[in-house]
Amino acid sequence: MHRNHARFVCAAAFLAIATPLASAQSSGDPADAAMHSIRPEAIRADMSFLSDDLLEGRGTATRGHQIAAKFMAAEFESMGLSPAGDNATFFQSVPLRSIRPDEARTTLALTRNGKTEKLVFRRDFISGGDASRPDTSVDAPIVYVGFGVTAPELHYDDYKGIDAKGKIVAMVFSAPNFESSLKAHYSSFEVKATNAVEHGAVGVIILNDPVLEGLYPFKERARDLTHPTLRWIQKDGTPHDSFPQIKGNAGLSLDATKKIFEGSGHTADEVFQAAKEGKSLSFPLAFSAQIHNVQKLEDVSSPNVVAKLEGSDPALKNEFLVYSAHLDHLGIGEPVNGDSIYNGALDNASGSAILLEVARAFSQMNPRPKRSILFVSVTGEEAGLLGSDYFANYPTVPKSSIAANINMDEDQMLWPLEDIIPFGAEHSSLENVAKQAAARLNLDLSPDPMPEEVIFIRSDQYSFVKQGIPALYPSPGIKSDDPNIKPAEIFKNWEATRYHEPSDDMQQPGLDFNQAAKYADFVFLCGWLVAQDPARPTWNPHDFFGDHYAHKM
Ligand SMILES: [Zn+2]
Repeated sequence: MHRNHARFVCAAAFLAIATPLASAQSSGDPADAAMHSIRPEAIRADMSFLSDDLLEGRGTATRGHQIAAKFMAAEFESMGLSPAGDNATFFQSVPLRSIRPDEARTTLALTRNGKTEKLVFRRDFISGGDASRPDTSVDAPIVYVGFGVTAPELHYDDYKGIDAKGKIVAMVFSAPNFESSLKAHYSSFEVKATNAVEHGAVGVIILNDPVLEGLYPFKERARDLTHPTLRWIQKDGTPHDSFPQIKGNAGLSLDATKKIFEGSGHTADEVFQAAKEGKSLSFPLAFSAQIHNVQKLEDVSSPNVVAKLEGSDPALKNEFLVYSAHLDHLGIGEPVNGDSIYNGALDNASGSAILLEVARAFSQMNPRPKRSILFVSVTGEEAGLLGSDYFANYPTVPKSSIAANINMDEDQMLWPLEDIIPFGAEHSSLENVAKQAAARLNLDLSPDPMPEEVIFIRSDQYSFVKQGIPALYPSPGIKSDDPNIKPAEIFKNWEATRYHEPSDDMQQPGLDFNQAAKYADFVFLCGWLVAQDPARPTWNPHDFFGDHYAHKM
């Protein structure tokens, strides 16, 4: 799960549909045999290899990730899957631009009443740099634009009555308290930056507030600058998700954020409170800012691994279900307790190992599933969903032939699995798929218990959603019938101590591969239902994402 910035009521009713599912309850269903072939030991073995120190944390565009990608391709090949990357290989090369801020020459100063104060990099502010050019600067008044969100369909606009033209816009992280996936979508930096540019802004300052500090403390954001910022490069040679109109960008510490409201007639606490309540509050600040971004740019590349299982139905085999799981993690970084290898065992050697087991289960079926299936082991997720976004923009099969995406990331195999959170399901007919799979496996479905985590935009399914492809990210839920097992606490503790830390490795206590296999069954079954249904998944009528993106298909 990347960091850039997340359950339905129990599916009591089993919905009958006119597909092979009608016979699914009978003992002879081929899906049952396929699920039986998914082995906890195999998940453990693959996960152990992928998160070994020798793979050096699988950082995007590093040798460790390259070895991991070769391993995935070898496994897919051994299952008899076909190469479906570039030039009949298993690899799709993703062109990337690496951006490393020059900390000594990147500066930010604030001016008020003719008095200028220089802020200090890492102590007061940070910046990931600018993807478009090595050097850029801006000097302009600052206007506070709340979350920086304009959502006409929800009658919400932080820019209402605000003139942002030629100004630097300062904003807090997150979004108003919309429904979970909309809140997540509007929290995305890409959406906010696009909106800022549309309002004529020339600079962006991301403020710190207690919400962001809780999710991703400023100190850790500064520490994580050891990993370069990355963008994927579009066919026209320009970096995607970069905004040349924005001539300066920075993120402030909590103290610097408090300072910036001085003289504005509003206090930082007032602003934080409004943000917490999801209320719009925008006003000009008393300061202007001088931002100078200097960075080292380097073009690199890193592979997605793409394997195909051809469908058995003469017509449906021309459509594809895409399974995705990111293979990359953070690589080698700042040492914590003497350990500098960020192994990424749960994040996401777990999903990668499960992707292999699900692929193996499908590959052994005879007859094969009706629709074709692509297994895509994507790169660059931690750096901002780059490999999946590249694949979804430039798929190796016609985009219109991709029927759905099912994504896996960070399988929390740390407690007995009782329920699934089907992120994204509520937007499309994939909700029925998740309901059927859950009912069949005696799992409950639960709504998102942590909308503030904006999980919907934090893994690779979002890249597919943005291309109009219905997507589902099933995540283990936090339900427990045993009062002695508290999954919510286990998860919070894991996030606080191991998420994106070198200690997310195979030595961590509590890894339960039987639970991982149960989760794999669910993931398999969802895909099986999609692959067999004569009707391809559809967006719900008037769905926000369907309305916004389905035309891209
Ligand atoms: Zn992650």
